[in-house]
Amino acid sequence: MSMVEIFEEIEKTVKTIVPAHVQITNIELEGSVVAIYTKNIDEFADNNDIIKQLAQALRRRVAIRPDPSILADQDRAEAEIRRIVPAEAQITDIYFEADTGEVTIEVLSPGIAIGRHGTVLNEIKKGIGWAPKIVRAPPIPSKTVREIRDYLRKDDVNSARKAFLKKLGKRICKEPNGGENWIRTTALGGYREVGRSATLLSTRESKILVDCGVNVSSEDNAPPYLNAPELMPIESIDGVVITHAHLDHCGLLPLLYKYGYDGPVYCTPPTRDLMSLLQIDYLKVTAGEGRKTPYESSHIRDVVKHCVLLRYGETTDISSDIRLTFQNAGHILGSAIGHFHVGDGLHNIVITGDIKYEKTWLFNPAVNKFPRLETLIIESTYGGHQDFQPSRKEAANQLKEIVKRTLARGGKVIVPVFAVGRSQEVMIVLEQLMRQKEILQVPIYLDGMIWEATAIHTAYPEYLNNQLREDIFQKGENPFLSEIFKRVDSVEMRDNICNDTDPCVVLATSGMLNGGPVMEYLKAWGTEEKNTLIFVGYQAEGTVGRRLQKGWKELSLSDHGKPITVKVNLDIETCDGFSGHSDRRQLMTYIHHCDPKPENVVVCHGEESKCYDFASSIHKNLGIDARVPMNLETIRYK
Ligand code: ZN
Ligand code: ZN
Repeated sequence: MSMVEIFEEIEKTVKTIVPAHVQITNIELEGSVVAIYTKNIDEFADNNDIIKQLAQALRRRVAIRPDPSILADQDRAEAEIRRIVPAEAQITDIYFEADTGEVTIEVLSPGIAIGRHGTVLNEIKKGIGWAPKIVRAPPIPSKTVREIRDYLRKDDVNSARKAFLKKLGKRICKEPNGGENWIRTTALGGYREVGRSATLLSTRESKILVDCGVNVSSEDNAPPYLNAPELMPIESIDGVVITHAHLDHCGLLPLLYKYGYDGPVYCTPPTRDLMSLLQIDYLKVTAGEGRKTPYESSHIRDVVKHCVLLRYGETTDISSDIRLTFQNAGHILGSAIGHFHVGDGLHNIVITGDIKYEKTWLFNPAVNKFPRLETLIIESTYGGHQDFQPSRKEAANQLKEIVKRTLARGGKVIVPVFAVGRSQEVMIVLEQLMRQKEILQVPIYLDGMIWEATAIHTAYPEYLNNQLREDIFQKGENPFLSEIFKRVDSVEMRDNICNDTDPCVVLATSGMLNGGPVMEYLKAWGTEEKNTLIFVGYQAEGTVGRRLQKGWKELSLSDHGKPITVKVNLDIETCDGFSGHSDRRQLMTYIHHCDPKPENVVVCHGEESKCYDFASSIHKNLGIDARVPMNLETIRYK
């Protein structure tokens, strides 16, 4: 079908479903969403059935938007909202999304702002035309969330985004090339290794790049094979899908925009915010080490401008023959497993990204039920047959004993962490142990983006596990707000802490000790035997972290550019149970419990020997064909 025919078809369907008295002023394809503009927005608000029927009949996501002519001017609308909403609701922010005709009203007491039976909400609706959304204000304000909102609100950004979504809508509906069907994936990075994840899913009709990471633990910060012929020209890529915000999955995404890519990035809302935070930090760290930065901050803004956000469980067309659905991966905030439904049921591929198949202090376990599944591409960070991790409970106990012992002898505890994920879990456990007086109450210093990452966690409570959500919202117990946490926000403060003699705990980035503020604490406290360094996450080959785990007693580090030698006398401990990755048993169970059972498995994101070890067990124990491609290899499925 041509674009014109598709459009006529959509118009016809809308007309048959929407009652005649409802005035439709415009229909647009914005990305894969059919946006229907109307002057009678209430007719839809009161009747969710119409939207469901439309979505089903059109087999597309449907959004009902107020016609721009009925929207009050933003200043007047804001004044009106402040007049209508009772003061006790305590408005903290109001922001308009011209994209959708929605206005979000952030308040401390949502119940009051909505009003009994929604009376207040209805009054707002009638008064301003914009569709009001009442949300609870995040308890810790996030600079990142604020900046992204402000950026997207700018007129020029907003109109550029509109144009981009329209262009995307056309591309997704393009006429098929025709001919013999084929589907394949090309390994472009992160195969037989950890770092620089990138997989190209290509079909007769389209090319989708899944993840675009950087290997921060390699000497030269190796990129994926972005110059592979499969990716050329760069405009031939229909879309990029980002599974989660860790740099080994999205660190070089802005580089694509520098190279001229101007298509969409599909990710969850928390992934967009966290990845901006981590990419900005990556530029800072790279520049700080005196190396050339691969891209500029303007390219990070390009990413934000081109993000198409998808929540877990929402299905969307991302090209003329591929539909994407994200599911919870249980790994970090907003981490997603991508389910790709290719060629109208020709083949279904699941790319796990990084997964945790266990309920953690923060998240529910990874999802492994899919409508259909033939090929599973799975990570294997801990896929070796000896990679067993203790349970969350055992890990907490182990952490308790180590911290208790260290504090009792007047020592200090350093915990190197990734800003996102592990920090928040360790925070929750330590807060609980101190509150219950199981360990000495000492200050816990958070250094290097951990505070900001935690703020983003509190902005997206719906992505946390049920228990934590309940604690925060029903019981009003937010562990992240505890007074024991102190934010390190200046070099002076860090110096003071380093020179202080009292026992304390420090959580600092980077997680593998390849730079970041954690190095300052290691330099200051590393020589003293009474102190302890506790690893709670994966340490890649080649990092200082891995060297310490191997028992190195002397490290060559740099101090303000000068090489120095640091003698390591402090205790080195590893608490494995905090990992955001599944261990060997969890990986095997994940596949075993996959519903439906995949026909074949592709193993990636692990050291070479672990990939092979895991793949051969999948074949032996589960009877499923498992492959371990190397980077640049292509596998054809159809
Ligand atoms: Zn990860
Ligand atoms: Zn990863």
